[in-house]
Amino acid sequence: MYIRPFDPWKAKLCTCPFKYTLNVYTGCDHACVYCYITSYIPNAFRVRTKDNLLPKLERELRKFDKRYIIALSYSSDPYPTVERKLGITRKVLELFRGYGVRCLLLTKSDVFERDLDILSELKCAIGITVTTVDERKAKLLEPNAPSPKARIRALKKANEAGIPVYARIDPIIPFYTWEDFDETLDALGFVSHITVSTLKLRPDSKRRMFAKFPEFMGKLWPLYERGERIGGYYYLPRKFRLKILEEAEEKILKKGITFGSCREGYRSFPTCDGSHLVP
Ligand code: SF4
Repeated sequence: MYIRPFDPWKAKLCTCPFKYTLNVYTGCDHACVYCYITSYIPNAFRVRTKDNLLPKLERELRKFDKRYIIALSYSSDPYPTVERKLGITRKVLELFRGYGVRCLLLTKSDVFERDLDILSELKCAIGITVTTVDERKAKLLEPNAPSPKARIRALKKANEAGIPVYARIDPIIPFYTWEDFDETLDALGFVSHITVSTLKLRPDSKRRMFAKFPEFMGKLWPLYERGERIGGYYYLPRKFRLKILEEAEEKILKKGITFGSCREGYRSFPTCDGSHLVP
């Protein structure tokens, strides 16, 4: 089955409402240094297409219970570089339109702008992830993803087309992207909902962070050593983490935007994942 119940890696602190998920591609070439899919997908930064995805998906959609949402995607990005050329996600969206699927889209690309004609006829909400609006830092963190500026511009177009839009500021990295939080939030001031999440490291993402930012990690890692270990992830110390979340929440709510947090054991309203925005 390509459409599967969302299983958030058995995360203890996940508060997601029940939904289904579909990964149009296997792997993701945005190659974010902090990415966690590398811990369970071999060669995760090499994108592969799926065998007979479209006919199989159509068979699954015939029987799909339309009360539920399908999220694109949680173990990949629906718009890796190759999507511009292959247009498989576009074909999936056409199928969704045909079968009246309710869809929650999340991406680090601006290519969804090409598909706004279909998306505006779908029951869907579109979200982008922006860790920082600092283009230099974003390039280091997410080397192959389109720039934050391009993502935000595309999301504004979706908003203008009347599609509900949301964002994730995720991960928040202390002493790094957290320094730009106010600017990032200002640039996202037009969205309805923002979900935040602090950096959670796994052994492989920790290795990549050390390889890319040796000096900075020399400063950051001692903090994680004093932190918690939750479900295979290194978390920041609880007090430190909650302080970031409280501050982020206050700033987001002040802008009239609803607040969600992801796998933090912290509150979210109305949902942690923005799924309340799907019509
Ligand atoms: S966009 Fe998401 S799935 Fe793709 S590399 Fe980055 S964190 Fe991983």
